[in-house]
Amino acid sequence: MKNLNYLKLKKQLPENVNLLAVSKYTNSKNIQSLYDLGQQHFGESKVQEAQIKQYDLINNQKLKWHFIGKIQSNKITKIVNNFDYIHSVDSLKKLQKISKVAIELNKTPKIMIQIKLSDDPDKGGMYREDLLSNFDEIKLIKGIQLIGLMTMNPKGLSSKDNLNLFKQCRSLADSLLLKECSMGMSQDWKEAVEAGSTWIRLGSLIFGDRII
Ligand SMILES: *Cc1c(COP(=O)(O)O)cnc(C)c1O
Repeated sequence: MKNLNYLKLKKQLPENVNLLAVSKYTNSKNIQSLYDLGQQHFGESKVQEAQIKQYDLINNQKLKWHFIGKIQSNKITKIVNNFDYIHSVDSLKKLQKISKVAIELNKTPKIMIQIKLSDDPDKGGMYREDLLSNFDEIKLIKGIQLIGLMTMNPKGLSSKDNLNLFKQCRSLADSLLLKECSMGMSQDWKEAVEAGSTWIRLGSLIFGDRII
């Protein structure tokens, strides 16, 4: 656990950039120690793994959980029940199901729609055209709070290509009047911040190598 890295990073970030600590790399104890330093937002990509930590950390009232993994339809009830933010909504159909469940559970999850800006087979997301053609319908969906877009760049791009893709995400969000852009990970967060990210999602840079 590299608390020093965390403190150094926090100092470098502009005020309008939120830091999501991606805790899929680590255990409840390390999450607690970061929370005690003031970190409130934690991201997990697997429901089952997250539930154990959420149970351990239930008394930390300001702790907010973000779901950043691939959404399986049969897990949506658990995701809506256990997470305050969902970054990885990659289809209209899933958004509609999230809405239905959220209304039933009387919750209002904050939603970011994942956007696919390049043809990377490893990365999910909605294509820009599909988002635009469905956006009137999306805006009317109840039970959710749509706050922004999320994107994940392919690995191994040059700094310039990363910056360019992040700028595309930012300008798409701006054109739809969405404030938040969840973009930037340990390898490319600087480019993301330069392009206007409001949520960077950092795992290995904060927690080091994965221990669980
Ligand atoms: C794991 C993960 C991260 C963090 O990755 P690092 O490169 O370790 O910072 C960010 N976003 C998503 C969606 C992830 O799955």
